Amino acid sequence: MRPTGKLHLGHLVGTLDNWVALQREYDCFFMVADWHALMGEYEDPGGMNESMIDNVADWLAAGIDPERSTLFIQSRVKEHLDLHMIFSCLTPLGWLERCPTYKEQLREVSTRDLHTYGFLGYPVLQAADILLYRADAVPVGEDQLPHLELTREIARRFNSLYKDTIFPEPEARLTVASRLAGLDGRKMSKSYNNTINLSDPEDTVRAKVQTMITDPQRVKLSDPGHPDVCGVFAYYNVFAPEDTARLRSACSNASFGCTECKKRLAAILVERLAPIQQRREILLQDKQKILDILEDGARRARSVAQQTLHDARSAMKI
Ligand code: SF4
Repeated sequence: MRPTGKLHLGHLVGTLDNWVALQREYDCFFMVADWHALMGEYEDPGGMNESMIDNVADWLAAGIDPERSTLFIQSRVKEHLDLHMIFSCLTPLGWLERCPTYKEQLREVSTRDLHTYGFLGYPVLQAADILLYRADAVPVGEDQLPHLELTREIARRFNSLYKDTIFPEPEARLTVASRLAGLDGRKMSKSYNNTINLSDPEDTVRAKVQTMITDPQRVKLSDPGHPDVCGVFAYYNVFAPEDTARLRSACSNASFGCTECKKRLAAILVERLAPIQQRREILLQDKQKILDILEDGARRARSVAQQTLHDARSAMKI
């Protein structure tokens, strides 16, 4: 995860809940991807350090267990860059230029100039991040499948060039995680200023929920609502699925108003966030402890990474 600001509800239901489940089943490596963040935020990277601590506090508060999983900062394990360099030499330019997410970002991101050498090579660094730990599985959303395919192609190319099966071809573990839109219905993102952050105080959560976009055709309380086009209803689907059948019927027959509906949703979100925020507050009282967890994780990650790099170099006879 890139340390580019506060974590929000989209991160919780789209990523962290999934990580917590994964760590029960797998030996997991969770990485603060600071080099990746730098590729996008190179003009103003000053906030990254603060985001790292803040984000990891959220990870831990959400249930990531450092005893069970390895948590570390990417740049503290220098082997990521070594392997990135090796992979950069053998990755054809065309593979990167045709990557759909690369083309999409160039088209859509207008606030930063992403026409850089580093940004084009983003998926190569990702391949190094994954293959350094010879991962069997990578939790990805469908939009990231092309990146994982590129990782598999790079692994295959390396193994075939140096006639040694150093790297496995990792499988996608498609996340069944929920996608959560932002307050305005667009993708939840700090750049759209439409997030509910995991650290938002109760009053802020309640105020933000009141600004959410509902069914635009429902102007008066007596107008029947259409839950399927309502952003608030989509949140009920994720955070209170047991309430949706009743809400659907009450909304459609105009017996329940949007203001009350939002108030209830806000209460549900406040209740969901409360234990995370309590744990987060305690964790942030001792930032050194968070740094120690990350340093310990970096040590564990490094020992795996060094072995992989050694094997890769041996295969290449360098
Ligand atoms: Fe949406 Fe709730 Fe209003 Fe129906 S009552 S339109 S679900 S906010």
